Amino acid sequence: MSHFRTATLLSAVLLCLLHPLPATAQQGKDPAAKQLERDILKELIEINTSDSAGGTPLAAKALADRLIAAGLPAVDVQVVGYNPRYASLVARYRGTAGGKKPILLMAHLDVVDARKEDWSTDPYQFVEKDGWYYGRGTSDVKDGAAMLVANFIRYKKEGFVPDRDLIIVLTADEETTGESIRWLVTEHRDLIDADYALNTDGGGGDYLRGVPIRFNVQGAEKVYQSFELEVRNKGGHSSRPVPDNAIYHLARGLARIADYQFPVRLNEVTRAFFARGGAAESKAVAADMRLVAKTGDPLAARRLSAVSPYYNSLLHTTCVATRLFAGHADNALPQLAKATVNCRIEPDEAVDSVETRLRGAVADTAVHFSRIGTAHPSPPSPLRRDVMGPVEELAHQYWPKVPIVPEMSTGATDGLYTRNVGIPTYGVAAVFDDMNDSRAHGRDERVGVKEYHQAAEYWYELVKRLSSGNATP
Ligand SMILES: [Zn+2]
Repeated sequence: MSHFRTATLLSAVLLCLLHPLPATAQQGKDPAAKQLERDILKELIEINTSDSAGGTPLAAKALADRLIAAGLPAVDVQVVGYNPRYASLVARYRGTAGGKKPILLMAHLDVVDARKEDWSTDPYQFVEKDGWYYGRGTSDVKDGAAMLVANFIRYKKEGFVPDRDLIIVLTADEETTGESIRWLVTEHRDLIDADYALNTDGGGGDYLRGVPIRFNVQGAEKVYQSFELEVRNKGGHSSRPVPDNAIYHLARGLARIADYQFPVRLNEVTRAFFARGGAAESKAVAADMRLVAKTGDPLAARRLSAVSPYYNSLLHTTCVATRLFAGHADNALPQLAKATVNCRIEPDEAVDSVETRLRGAVADTAVHFSRIGTAHPSPPSPLRRDVMGPVEELAHQYWPKVPIVPEMSTGATDGLYTRNVGIPTYGVAAVFDDMNDSRAHGRDERVGVKEYHQAAEYWYELVKRLSSGNATP
């Protein structure tokens, strides 16, 4: 471990010497690049791609036109979908022939519905105000889609030839079903197959009171699986109760699930998160975080779980009752009682093992278990040196002294499905925002003007570095 750290530090120092400080790290930025990034973001925001409006074909087409106009062969720019209402863009920027396996660059075109009356401005109008760009999708994640496309256009203008193909994939339904990426990885693997993927829809930077404190890299996501718990009885008249009651069986079982804590289970990503992620915490909490990272100490884990539901969810598989249904008449003994229990499973824990533990906790054979849907396993992505090295070195140039913190999402993004088929995926949004004022999916969604263009520049440099044959081995 200490050997690895020393090596990291040394190579970071060497790379700082080899690579001059990127333009924006020293302030000024090419005004044409900035204008292009702004124009594309504006165009995307003003195409309503919420599920109810269904505008992803328009958005995909608009971006495809820009890429073809910039010189990408039309055959390499495809608007595809499993259903004409949901169109994804897949654009391949050719590298030297016989090069390494491609790098996949990810974002999604769809946004969560926004109601005009809830907002201070029209959510589907791009508004610049007081150092912010406002509009639905400015932070989730049309900013990512726009910067990826803008960077391809810049590379083309410069005549940049990467040492491998670069592929942009912008999906159409990440916020709802995730069907687009699932369809692509299963039916059109050839279009998007890659050595690894970088996702603009994960990670990001945190400001605390305006000061950058963390650069997050999403390397894992929890796995989603719901169970239905059901008890059936023969019923009868409610004036003559019997001990064998469907509602009481189920209620006792659920109460035991409420009291049950899954064991602490860390992976490479969450261990690194707890080791480095304590910047915004009190000394005591930060010490517990380091202790958990080192030894998995159950008492420290218990204290952290009490501090934050997020930490609790990172440390354990969680299962919680989310729906309940029982009985059929006020004056009858219940013949049926059922509940939905939703689990968010640590990515290296098997669903079978979770079910066994739940059954053990309930400890009542009258309660029958069945699974709702099928889980999509998603192994944590190994923190590969050839990827994390350049990600970290460049981040340190842009945001000096800010710790790079690997993180696991407790929800899910398209990255779940790319990891599922064996493409390691890293969420590296690189857009800094106040950690206590995230507006994704909410009203008055916005992205900082400086932060957006800075992230675009970071991605421009990062992808170039990763595909220039000079990435750290
Ligand atoms: Zn998103």
